[in-house]
Amino acid sequence: MTALIRRGAFELRRHTLEWWGLVVAGTFALCLGLGMFSGPLIVSGNLMPLAGLTCFAVTLARALVREFSEDSQGPRTASVATMREVELGLLLLTGAFLLVALTGGNRSFLYPLVYGLVSFLVLVSERSISTVIWLAAACVLEVLVELASLRVSWSLGLYHAVMILFFGAGNRLILGGLARRLRSEHVRRLELDLAQMRQEARDFRLIASQLPPESRAARTREQEELRMARAAVDGIHDQLFFTIELLRSSLNLHTCALLWLQDRSTVASRGRDLPRLFIKEIATSSDLVRTNPLLDGPGVLSAVVRDPKALRLKNLNGRRVPPYYEGPEAVTDLCAVPLLEGAAVRGFVCADRIDGRPFTDEEQAALATAAEHVLRVIEQERAFSAVERSKYEQERFYRASELLNEALTLEAVYDRTFDAVASIRDCSLMALTGFDKSSDSHRVLASRLDAALTSDRAWSGVEERLRGHQFASGKGLVSSAVKNRHYMPVSGELLDGHTVVFDADTRLRRAKSVLVLPLVHGDCAMGALVLASERGQHFPSEVREMLRVICNQVSTSLQNARMYRVMEERATTDGLTGLTNHRAFQERYENLHALCERTDQRFSVILTDIDHFKSVNDTYGHPVGDAVLKRVARILEVKARKVDIVARYGGEEFVLVLPDTDGPGAEMFANRLREEVGAQVMRSEHGDFNVTLSMGVATFPDDGRSRQELVDKADQALYYCKEHGRNRVTRWAKG
Ligand code: GH3
Ligand code: MG
Ligand code: MG
Repeated sequence: MTALIRRGAFELRRHTLEWWGLVVAGTFALCLGLGMFSGPLIVSGNLMPLAGLTCFAVTLARALVREFSEDSQGPRTASVATMREVELGLLLLTGAFLLVALTGGNRSFLYPLVYGLVSFLVLVSERSISTVIWLAAACVLEVLVELASLRVSWSLGLYHAVMILFFGAGNRLILGGLARRLRSEHVRRLELDLAQMRQEARDFRLIASQLPPESRAARTREQEELRMARAAVDGIHDQLFFTIELLRSSLNLHTCALLWLQDRSTVASRGRDLPRLFIKEIATSSDLVRTNPLLDGPGVLSAVVRDPKALRLKNLNGRRVPPYYEGPEAVTDLCAVPLLEGAAVRGFVCADRIDGRPFTDEEQAALATAAEHVLRVIEQERAFSAVERSKYEQERFYRASELLNEALTLEAVYDRTFDAVASIRDCSLMALTGFDKSSDSHRVLASRLDAALTSDRAWSGVEERLRGHQFASGKGLVSSAVKNRHYMPVSGELLDGHTVVFDADTRLRRAKSVLVLPLVHGDCAMGALVLASERGQHFPSEVREMLRVICNQVSTSLQNARMYRVMEERATTDGLTGLTNHRAFQERYENLHALCERTDQRFSVILTDIDHFKSVNDTYGHPVGDAVLKRVARILEVKARKVDIVARYGGEEFVLVLPDTDGPGAEMFANRLREEVGAQVMRSEHGDFNVTLSMGVATFPDDGRSRQELVDKADQALYYCKEHGRNRVTRWAKG
């Protein structure tokens, strides 16, 4: 209730100004209609209008201040924003009409102010509802002012109303459309800029040409690379422009341009297939440089594009103009040097003059040095990006290895492994296999199919077949990877869908790329990580390296989880019989009891004791006694259901807890156990013998509710058996 009141108070505070503003605006509108502001303001000492005006001015000022300082108060909901917009508009309109009323009513020289305000409001508002309310309010105010005028003229009022609607609706339609066009043009330009930036990053080869697609993890990686590339591209542009500008001013050039080849391959030899050139950077004194960076053709540079050697031309006298000019520039001399990266031509540095001074050898050498510098700048940025990228990748590794370290159970290790791999490379199918040296066989421990492929019959069929699949070592990639302790295939690429990965029954026919990495711990391979993708060339060397590191981590985590499982098993099982030990029994019994108490479900407890066991030990020896204990334990274990608890309670006593079993049911089951054990022939050096069991049964909730009470009652029933001839079952309720 208090929360409700508090929330109500908050809402009220939040909206106070809107309501208050609307009340003030409305009151003023009425006052206008009553003629309170027509004629002299203070009539015979009446201070009411003056006080009202002050109140209005304060409200308007508050609304304005709030509107312009809103950002500091956090985000607003859409409805509150609309409300405040409407309110401010109404206050302004009322204010405008007030001025009109004070300065002569509908014939006031200030009337155009109303039109101006209506146009302004309609233009700045993004909501149609506000526009409709304002236009309606303006018409109402017009009528009120008209009513209060000394000389009522309805035709003038009608004219004003029509003009208000014309200004409002006209502005909304014409200027609103214009604003929308400008907005969409702006968005389009932004998208173009982004696309251009991406292209440039590729031209400078900062973004790996094959980024991992769609998957969430891959998108994050792409975004990260884009961020780094953006910073690198900016850095390159700054340096390139500085170099080009320096050349222009120091060599007295008219224009110095860095032209880039559209096609990154080497220059084609056939004239018709010449790659196109881009202006990457240009420093010029000319007004005739093209605005479109993509040049139509190499023009005067054809020779250098065809055969990438330095080119020097003189006495051109404006006859042949470099392709980066749009108009007839009077170029007299030209020098172009190629940007060579190994055998590949990336572009050209071009310089021209219009003063007739030919390029000297030194100047050509300076341009060649600048070209080398340009390539070095790009190379540096590339190296820098690589460092940045590896830093980012290290962080990922760190995170992945942290996640793997946290995984204590085998299932968690499988899960985390797939997560870690997915963060590096999206795969259609991932699987982990375990290798058993003694039987020289492999078993699929876990697999994960790309979520998008779960409905794909071909893939999901393979995954189903793989579940728990066991196969002998053979010629498959998994066997080879485990045997050689090296990833397979050696080339890193699967060449055809017939290649055996696991065994012949589980071929990955849809996979174009497969990578099998061994999980090596110490000297031996404990299994393999199998990755398959529908895309070709999906695991290039840098990805393989990353995955190899992940696999090392996976091997360690798997080993840890296996050790952890063994330790846990040791702590909870009885060393002799392999059954749950007393401590673990208490824990499981407590959980089951709590569950049955909550759900009001019955269960039965059976306490079992081997009859005359001491004499077994005495007659046949302790080791035979141990063998008997194991044999009895095995029978209990095999006969019980999965949900039952079977534990060694101590010495030659066992306990069973049977969920959802009543007294008679438990008694029947106990008798079956008793008969089975009694029928066993125990062998020893001193001859064969049999053992019998005595069993006491107590049932929840009929015989008792607490855990101890039930065990005590089962014990009493057991005692009853011992008292009444042994080799029998007694229910406490009947005992
Ligand atoms: P009762 O029919 O009244 O139960 O007679 P009992 O001889 O079975 O009597 P009791 O329960 O007192 O004897 C338990 C014997 O079980 C004593 C102990 O030597 C033997 N025992 C307890 N734990 C082990 C074990 O781990 N191995 C072997 N061999 N004997 C054990
Ligand atoms: Mg005993
Ligand atoms: Mg006994």
